[in-house]
Amino acid sequence: MLSQPGAFDAEPIPDAAREEIERLLTSGDLFRYTASQDAPAALLEAEFASLIGSRYALAVSSCSAALFLSLRALDLPRGARVLVPAFTFAAVPSAVLHADCTPVLVECGRDYRIDIGDFRSKLSSADAVLVSHMRGHTSDMEAIMSAADEAGVPVVEDAAHSLGTIWRGRNIGTIGRVGCFSFQSYKLLNAGEGGMLVSDDPDLIARAIIMSGAYEHNWRKHPVLQEAFARWQNALPLYNTRLSNLSAAVVRPQLGELPRRVRDGRRNHDLVAAKLRASPWFDVPIPLQGELRAPDSIQFNLLGMDDAGVRRFTEAATAGGVAVQVFGLSPDNARAFWNWHFLGHMPELPKTREMLMRACDVRLPARLSPEACVGVADTVVAAASSAAGAARAA
Ligand SMILES: *Cc1c(COP(=O)(O)O)cnc(C)c1O
Repeated sequence: MLSQPGAFDAEPIPDAAREEIERLLTSGDLFRYTASQDAPAALLEAEFASLIGSRYALAVSSCSAALFLSLRALDLPRGARVLVPAFTFAAVPSAVLHADCTPVLVECGRDYRIDIGDFRSKLSSADAVLVSHMRGHTSDMEAIMSAADEAGVPVVEDAAHSLGTIWRGRNIGTIGRVGCFSFQSYKLLNAGEGGMLVSDDPDLIARAIIMSGAYEHNWRKHPVLQEAFARWQNALPLYNTRLSNLSAAVVRPQLGELPRRVRDGRRNHDLVAAKLRASPWFDVPIPLQGELRAPDSIQFNLLGMDDAGVRRFTEAATAGGVAVQVFGLSPDNARAFWNWHFLGHMPELPKTREMLMRACDVRLPARLSPEACVGVADTVVAAASSAAGAARAA
C-alpha cells in the first residue's frame, strides 16, 4: 500500500480564509447583496475576471448552474438543439434539459476530445454548442470556433475541470461567448460547491446576473454597463443560483495557490504519463498543439485487453492501493452516455463507446509527492502486466 494522502482528500483551506470567515460569522453578513460594496462574492468576481482575462464574471452556486444560466442568457428558443460532447459528466446534458433545450451528443475520439468530423456534420442543425473540456482535455478550439462562427452558432465552454489550462496563449473558458467553472471539491478551487460564469459580452452577463437572482436593483452592485441591465429589468425570471459570501471567502485565498497547484499537478501528471508510455499496455494521448493542461488526474487507454483483462487490471490496481476507474465499465458511471436514461432517446455513438470501454481515470492531486506518483505508476504498470500474464496462462 502507498502511504500518501487519499486521492479524494482535499487540500486544507489556506489559513487566510479564517479571519474573513470569523468576521462573516460575527456580522452574519452571508448574503452577497446585503453590503453596499466589497462583499466577498463581488471581490471574488473581480479577482477571478482579472486572473482569467475576462471582462465580466458572475459567481454562482455550481458550474451546472452556470451552464444553465449561459444557455438561458443566450436567449435560445425552447427546444433549441445544443451540441454536447458524448464524453462528459451527466450534469452537462442535464443543464441543457433544465434550460428547455435538446442535447445533441457528438462523438469523442480516443484522445477524449470532440470528433471534429461528427461536430461539423451536426453543426448545421444546431442552435448552440456546449464544449466540455473533460478532465481538462481541450477539444480543437480553432476548428470548433471557426466552424461555429461561420455557422453563426454561439459557443459555451464548460471549463469546470479546466481552470489553469492554456490554449494557444489564452485561458480556457475565455474563448467561447461564455465560460463556466466549478468550485466543487474535486476541482482546482474548492468551496465545497460553487461556480463562476465569465463573458466579455455586457448584454449576456447582464441577463445572467439578473436571472441568477439580482432582483430589483441589486444589479447595481455589479460593475457592468448599467444600460444593459435597464433593458432587462423585470423581463426575466429569477432562478436564484447565487453564491454565498461564505463560499466566496473560502475560495478567495486559494487564488494565490493556483500557480503552485497547476505546476505540481502538471509535474505529477507528466511523471506518471512518461512511465505509462514506456509500457506496452497503455496509450496516453498527447496534448494538441498549443495546449498546456493543468491536470489533477491522468487518463489513458488500455491496449490489447478484453473486458475480462480490463477487470483483472482494475482489481490488481485496487489491491495495490490505486483506484482506477474505467469510465465505461464501472456500474452507473455518470460519464458513460448510455447511463443517461433521462435523455429518453439514446443515440448510438460507437466511437465514444469504444473509447469509454478502455479509458481509465486515476486521480493525481497536486499535493501528491513525486515519490507517491512513482508508486502510483509502478502499481498501475504491475497491475497491467499481471492482468495480461493471467490472460496468457488461461
Ligand atoms: C464537475 C464538472 C461539472 C459540474 O460542476 P458542478 O459545479 O458540480 O455543477 C460539469 N462539467 C465538468 C466537465 C465537470 O468536471
